[in-house]
Amino acid sequence: MRYLKNVSTLKIDRKKCTGCGMCAVVCPHRVIKVAERKAWIIEPDLCMECGACAVNCRENAVSVKSGTGCAYGMILAKLKGSSEECECECG
Ligand code: SF4
Ligand code: SF4
Repeated sequence: MRYLKNVSTLKIDRKKCTGCGMCAVVCPHRVIKVAERKAWIIEPDLCMECGACAVNCRENAVSVKSGTGCAYGMILAKLKGSSEECECECG
């Protein structure tokens, strides 16, 4: 499921990133990839802003406003007449 384009609040501070890969492991939508010992946002529009990456980053290198993406996804689903179930476990 894609959310609205270019609205994700996800950010990675690569100066703090040590490339441990935990953010990529916990991301349910494969938004983040680790290459050259740094995390990269490769699919920002797939981010549902669940916050798992930020919670699991020991270096505090990830920031994301949790919850917004879920709301967008549910609104879009409603407008399209499809299921309004959010795919994450936020609610
Ligand atoms: S969890 Fe944090 S330190 Fe580890 S790769 Fe991701 S952004 Fe970098
Ligand atoms: S907020 Fe959730 S969906 Fe977005 S990159 Fe982080 S773990 Fe993936």
